Amino acid sequence: MTHPGELLKKNSLYAGKELGQNFLSNPATAQMIVDRTGVDKEMIVLEIGPGLGAITLPLARACKQVVAVEKDRRIIPLLEEELANEGIRNVTIINQDILKTDIRELAGTKKLVVIGNLPYNISSQILFQLITIRQVVTRAFLMFQKELAERLLSPAGNRNYSRLAAVVQYASKIERVADIRPNNFFPRPDVNSTVLRFDFFETKGMGKEDEILLFSVIKAAFSKRRKTLHNAMADGELGLTKEIVGIALENAGIDPSRRAETLNVQEFIDLSKAVGKVST
Ligand code: SAM
Repeated sequence: MTHPGELLKKNSLYAGKELGQNFLSNPATAQMIVDRTGVDKEMIVLEIGPGLGAITLPLARACKQVVAVEKDRRIIPLLEEELANEGIRNVTIINQDILKTDIRELAGTKKLVVIGNLPYNISSQILFQLITIRQVVTRAFLMFQKELAERLLSPAGNRNYSRLAAVVQYASKIERVADIRPNNFFPRPDVNSTVLRFDFFETKGMGKEDEILLFSVIKAAFSKRRKTLHNAMADGELGLTKEIVGIALENAGIDPSRRAETLNVQEFIDLSKAVGKVST
């Protein structure tokens, strides 16, 4: 692997801040991440933002096929050259924005593993996108700013527990894969990074409509963090009266004076089922 700084300079290019281009510059770190994914020669992997190929090269050697979606057209010829120099032929590069990509269509009848060292400003959005199509994504390995990773790992009751954590913990089992220091990237970011592994659960017995309601209930509950659940949920988002919310909380066996950050995933499921019953 050629050092990203050298490769960019040789081609008179620069790392784009708006695309979150902090390329992994330490091949041992990229190899360690790929090793910890446990991918094998049977698997098709979707890589989000392959950049100059730090992860793509060891990944392509470890799996059956890599489908790499990269938004920046400028760097694709450099990635193609890196792959050709290493004699790697099982990578398909798609020049597209992942947020506008139909991953379900890309997968077809197959199941995908997803890996991405993502721009931090779109990491939550991509994670949410993956949750909504988790029938075709078995697991994902995504890099986050360390603070966001800590928030996603926080259990109910912790002050870092959030709306996103509740949704993600409902949809997947989360594990920390590795913490990565800034000196592993070019250019160096100002923050520490963490790779997380998500093993997606299929449905937990919830239909599509049930899930949409659950996510709305979680959103409403966290919309006013300082308010009690009763007040936060009766405050517009769900279009429910205070009385209806009170009945739902009582039927779910949840104290109305609690706050959203104290409810675990099962309690949110119970609450959304109770909301569904009283509001129909
Ligand atoms: N995976 C490479 C690595 O580890 O060195 C590059 C990581 S860099 C942090 C993020 C990559 O995602 C860049 O190549 C950037 O151009 C690409 N990218 C940014 N936004 C994207 C988007 N919306 N869709 C697809 N790729 C995107």
